[in-house]
Amino acid sequence: MVRLLLDVMCGGIRAHLRMCGHDTVYALDRGIETDEEILALAHDEGRTIVSRDRDLVVRADDAILLESTDATEQLATLASEGIELQLSEEPTRCGRCNGRLGRIDPSDTTPSHVPDAAKMAVWQCRDCGQCFWKGSHWERVAATLEAI
Ligand SMILES: [Zn+2]
Repeated sequence: MVRLLLDVMCGGIRAHLRMCGHDTVYALDRGIETDEEILALAHDEGRTIVSRDRDLVVRADDAILLESTDATEQLATLASEGIELQLSEEPTRCGRCNGRLGRIDPSDTTPSHVPDAAKMAVWQCRDCGQCFWKGSHWERVAATLEAI
């Protein structure tokens, strides 16, 4: 797993990367957008910067340049740079906020929009409370990653 910091133009792939288990911070979620702030955060937290800004990538210790604005092409570039893009069998990261997921106990009651945890595996984010399961969104992401 890699620790990533996505620059402002690269946020469209954050859920994909988190669903693959990568600790992925999006700059705007941390309220930062200047090169100096991004370089400082990457340094402090040991993160690889993912950016469309060539000048920023040149200045960083560890960074990957994305040329495309298309999410699938951006993911393909990361794959070619050695970032493993494989959905985790047991999801660990919240696609929405990057928080840690915990498995909901099968005997616990789930919210009405969430599948019954006794019938299928459901995970919940310990930070934002979002629930995840291997439903249609999961299948779409799996198909995107397989196409790469
Ligand atoms: Zn969350």
